[in-house]
Amino acid sequence: MTILKILQYPDKRLKRVAVPVENFDASIQKVIDDMFETHYATPNCAALAATQLDLDIPWHITVIDYSHEKNQPLCLVNGKITYREGEQNELEGCMSVFPQHIHEKVKRAMKIKVQYQDRHGNPHEIEAEGYFAKCIQHELDHLDGHVYLDHLHKIKVERIARKVKKLERQAKKEK
Ligand code: ZN
Repeated sequence: MTILKILQYPDKRLKRVAVPVENFDASIQKVIDDMFETHYATPNCAALAATQLDLDIPWHITVIDYSHEKNQPLCLVNGKITYREGEQNELEGCMSVFPQHIHEKVKRAMKIKVQYQDRHGNPHEIEAEGYFAKCIQHELDHLDGHVYLDHLHKIKVERIARKVKKLERQAKKEK
């Protein structure tokens, strides 16, 4: 297995739109294994989308596991939200967007239904609520070529960029 590089904002590749998986062949199984390995090797990582990674083809795949023991892997292939209800406004962070520095509140649906295929192509539907729902919405945004900053006001994003630059300068001095 291989640990993949996680692309960092503002890498243009984060804007790639995911490619639907049609053949669940050995190469796709390897991508999923590599994604889980990368996920588990990255501290404080809840989930990763293939479009966040240094892959030649950004497949429509997300891997999720935010369990304490890291023993509840969930892989969504070709996931699609079919139902949304309610609202939440909770802090989010992202492994591609200055993960050490920023967390911002984003408005998301409180409850969703998602249709997806598992790693072998079998169709499923799940309901998700709260943190789980937030996590899936964040990952499916990535697969549409969006990072969570895209939900925030432009002025706020500029303020965040300044803050990050300052923090990075401080971190350099401390080294
Ligand atoms: Zn993210």
